[in-house]
Amino acid sequence: MQKLYQLFNRQIFDDKLPACKIRTRNLKGMSGRTEAVSDRPKLLIYIDLHKRLTIADRYDTLLHEMVHVWQYENDLDMDHGRTFWKKVYQIKRLYGIEIYYGGEISD
Ligand SMILES: [Zn+2]
Repeated sequence: MQKLYQLFNRQIFDDKLPACKIRTRNLKGMSGRTEAVSDRPKLLIYIDLHKRLTIADRYDTLLHEMVHVWQYENDLDMDHGRTFWKKVYQIKRLYGIEIYYGGEISD
């Protein structure tokens, strides 16, 4: 998944996203989440993916979470508001990739 993150970062986000640690875990009620943890002087960003996702859902959830990392990087609220959907539609328009939203209850 780390390699896929680098690939998506390069292809879709212009290599602008910071390094993230991707973990698979047993999440309750959501397929993925993004968490920024301060570990002075560094900041660690974790993307957690549910360990029971199919491969296709993993790709999709990773991209969804990467939109949150992009929001974080740009000092935007990490939510599913206007900036989230703007980015999702932009990715769809430019790359024909549709980011699935279902399966995630909150993050
Ligand atoms: Zn989300």
